[in-house]
Amino acid sequence: MHALTQPAATAPYAPPTGWTRLSPTYDPWDPIRSLQRYGRHELTSVELTVTHLCNMRCEHCAVGDSLTMREAPHIPLDLLFKRLDEVQRLETISMTGGEPTFSMDTVRNILLPVLKYARERGIRTQLNSNVTMDFERYELIAPFLDVMHISFNYTQAEDFHQIGFARTGRNVRPETTSKMYERMVDNARKLSQGGLFVSAESMINYRTHRSIAEIHRLIEEMGCVRHEVHPMYPSSFASGLPAITRGEMFEAVETLLDVRNPEMWMLFGTLPFFACSEDEEERRLVRRLRESKNVTVRNDPDGRNRVNVNMFSGDVYVTDFASVPPFGNVRGEKLDDVFAKWRDHPMQQAVNCHCETASCCGPNLLVADMYYRGTDFTVRKAGL
Ligand code: SF4
Repeated sequence: MHALTQPAATAPYAPPTGWTRLSPTYDPWDPIRSLQRYGRHELTSVELTVTHLCNMRCEHCAVGDSLTMREAPHIPLDLLFKRLDEVQRLETISMTGGEPTFSMDTVRNILLPVLKYARERGIRTQLNSNVTMDFERYELIAPFLDVMHISFNYTQAEDFHQIGFARTGRNVRPETTSKMYERMVDNARKLSQGGLFVSAESMINYRTHRSIAEIHRLIEEMGCVRHEVHPMYPSSFASGLPAITRGEMFEAVETLLDVRNPEMWMLFGTLPFFACSEDEEERRLVRRLRESKNVTVRNDPDGRNRVNVNMFSGDVYVTDFASVPPFGNVRGEKLDDVFAKWRDHPMQQAVNCHCETASCCGPNLLVADMYYRGTDFTVRKAGL
């Protein structure tokens, strides 16, 4: 693997010389940074939903219900760039789908112009992709991209088949998906070798919680710089999947900390464990996460420092929490203004806590709703 210590600019997909290297001490996606810098949450991150097309139908997919076979035209890029220009503190842009590289038109007409725009402005970018398409597509994008974010929840091609094609509604042959699996692994490896920051995300859920150590090992083998781990919270599309207990989640996190490669950055997110917990064991785990080398716990950007723009309707979402409708539309509003409306919303205020000693700015809405109904986080304090 290319470890965190590898020098930059040694390969075609490495970031421009002189750019600060993304690392456990520099993660511009973490909302705690803008809170520390400006004293309140500010919009520093924009996510673009660039497609609803996808060649897979993962059983856990958070946007599964919105996937389609055909799609409408995108909003004009001029309008998008105007809105991005207006975001005063913009630091990161993420692009997601669907599979953003599914259509070559999207690669050429959206991904590339947005990535080039970001490079010119010194803004960091992330693409969420399953990297199962032909390498040529990724090769086009990689020189302008900062983070290729992939999902990896597998120990073998059979898992990939079961997880990734559960909802296709047609019979996809294991031989076909096995080839896609190989291509995904191969693409991730080639991108890593080319110097791209590949971050593989695994969910802790009913399928993976016992095999998470093996999944970590395979991610290391692909040369990924970072392993990102989140518990799976059942969204509407995945609401039928079996849930695991908090105890099982806890165990899986401990196992990972026991067996992981300490040279690889491990990023945990949306954990339901906090430094203000009344449970001593949970506090111990939070402490362990804080003290482990190359381990970070990222505060959730959704509803903190990020908005999502739907590139078809122009609607702006502030969180993927189910009961929050779009907060505005880029056709008529500035993104900073939409964000300001959300910052004062009672729903955001309920989880708007901050403990400096724990570098924590509270749970995301889904976690609060699932495990902490009735808890007022604004009166809690970290007890590390
Ligand atoms: S910021 Fe909120 S969730 Fe985090 S430790 Fe403090 S009170 Fe708990």
